[in-house]
Amino acid sequence: MIYNAEYECMDPEARRKLQLASLKNLAETLYANVPFYRQKMDGMGICSRDVHSLEDIEKLPFTTKDDLRINYPRGLLACPKDRIVEVHMSSGTTGKPVVDEYTQKDINIWREAMARTLSAAGCTRDDIVQNCYGYGLFTGGPGAHYGALTIGAEVLPMSSGNTPRQLMVMQDFGSTMLTCTPSYALYMAEEAVEAGIDLRKLPVCKGCFGAEPWSENMRKEIESRYGMKAYDIYGLTEIIGPGVAFECEAQQGLHINEDLFYPEIIDPETGKTLGDGEKGELVLTTLTKEGTPLLRYRTRDITYLIREPCTCGRTMVRMHRIFGRTDDMLIIRGVNVFPSQIEQALIEIEGTEPQYLIVVNRGENRLDEVELQVEVKKEFFTDETKGLEALRAKIQSVMASKLQISLKVKLVEPKTIERSMGKSKRVIDNRKI
Ligand code: ADP
Ligand code: ZN
Repeated sequence: MIYNAEYECMDPEARRKLQLASLKNLAETLYANVPFYRQKMDGMGICSRDVHSLEDIEKLPFTTKDDLRINYPRGLLACPKDRIVEVHMSSGTTGKPVVDEYTQKDINIWREAMARTLSAAGCTRDDIVQNCYGYGLFTGGPGAHYGALTIGAEVLPMSSGNTPRQLMVMQDFGSTMLTCTPSYALYMAEEAVEAGIDLRKLPVCKGCFGAEPWSENMRKEIESRYGMKAYDIYGLTEIIGPGVAFECEAQQGLHINEDLFYPEIIDPETGKTLGDGEKGELVLTTLTKEGTPLLRYRTRDITYLIREPCTCGRTMVRMHRIFGRTDDMLIIRGVNVFPSQIEQALIEIEGTEPQYLIVVNRGENRLDEVELQVEVKKEFFTDETKGLEALRAKIQSVMASKLQISLKVKLVEPKTIERSMGKSKRVIDNRKI
C-alpha cells in the first residue's frame, strides 16, 4: 500500500526541483548556524550560492562519524535549543555516541517516513503491531511506534527482550505485524518452538525487520518459521533512525525516501561519486531536517542505487539491500567478504542453524586465521562423528567455492552461540586486542 502517492510516486523531474531547493536551503542554514560547517565550507572556498544544480552537491563537504563524535554532544545543532523536543543516540559501542536532535518538524518527518515504510509492508489501521525494537535512546522502538500511530494501527510497545512475555502477548492479543531486528525475530521463533507454540497458526502475517545486515536466505527462514512476509527496512540514528529506506511488495531493493534524504554512492577509498548500479559507500544528506541536519553523511554502508522504475508505482530510487558496513568487512587472505555473504551461503547447507560467529585471529606466521563457528541442528548433533565431519567439510568447501575464502570451520552444539535481543554481533576480531 502506498501511504503518500503525491510524494512517493512524484514525477522524478519535479522531485529533483524540490530536492535542489531543499539542498540550497540546507547549505545556507548550515553555513549560517553551524560553525563546524561554516569552517569546512570556508576552508573549501564554497558557499550556498555555489549550488546551482543537484550535481553541485559534490562541491560540498562530507560529514563523517568522527565529525559527529568531535561535536558531541550538541556541536551540530542547527536551530535554537528550545525548539528541540526529543533526542536519540546510537549505541556508541565504539566511542562517544552519535546524537540526533529532533524539532517537532523532524518528528513529523520521521512519522511520515515510517508511515510510508510500514504501509509498504501492508500495515493499515486494522493492524496490531507488536513492536519489539528497543525503546529508549535507540531509534528503532520509537521510530516504528510513531509510524504505526501515524497510520492509525494499534501498537504494542513491547521493546526487546522478555521473550516468554512477547510470545504470550502475541498469542493473546493476536498481533498481526512484527517489528524487530531479524536476529531477534529468529530467536523468538526458536523460543516459540521450545514452548510448543506454532507461530504459523497465529494471526501474525507480516513484519518489518532491519537495524542490522541480513541475507535473502535469512528472510526465507523467518518467513517460513512464522508463515509471514518479511520486509527489509533501513535507517540510522544520524539521519533520522528507521525510515530512510524500505522494501515495497516487489522486494527488489529498498526505496529511499529521497524527497527527505538525498542519496549518493561514493568510492570509499577516493571519495569520488559513482554511477547508478556501481557498488560503493552510501552517502546521505538530510534535505528537510531542522535539529541536526547533515550534509553528505558517510554511512559506511555498502550498496548501489537502482534507478529503473519499480513495478509498485513508486518513483523513488531504490538501493540494493545493504551488503555490510565498511568496518565489518573482513579481508581474508586478500578476499573481501561481508558476514552477510557467509550467512547467505551457510543457510543453504542442510543441518546448520542460521547462527554463526566469525572469529579472526592473527596466526603464527602473521597471516590472519578465520574460524567460522556454526551451530548444528539438534537432529544432526549426534554422537556419530562421521556425519559431523562430513558437514564440517561441506561447509568448508561451500565457503571455498562460493566465496573464494578458506577458513576453519568449527561446529558447535545447538543454542551455544549467544542470541541477541537487538543487533547481533557476528564478528570477534582478536587482532585488535
Ligand atoms: P549503531 O552505529 O550503534 O549500530 P544505529 O542503530 O544508528 O547505530 O545503526 C545504524 C546502522 O545499522 C546502519 O548504518 C547500518 O549499518 C545498520 N542497518 C540498519 N538497517 C539495516 C538493514 N536493513 N540492513 C543492513 N544494515 C542495516
Ligand atoms: Zn517498489
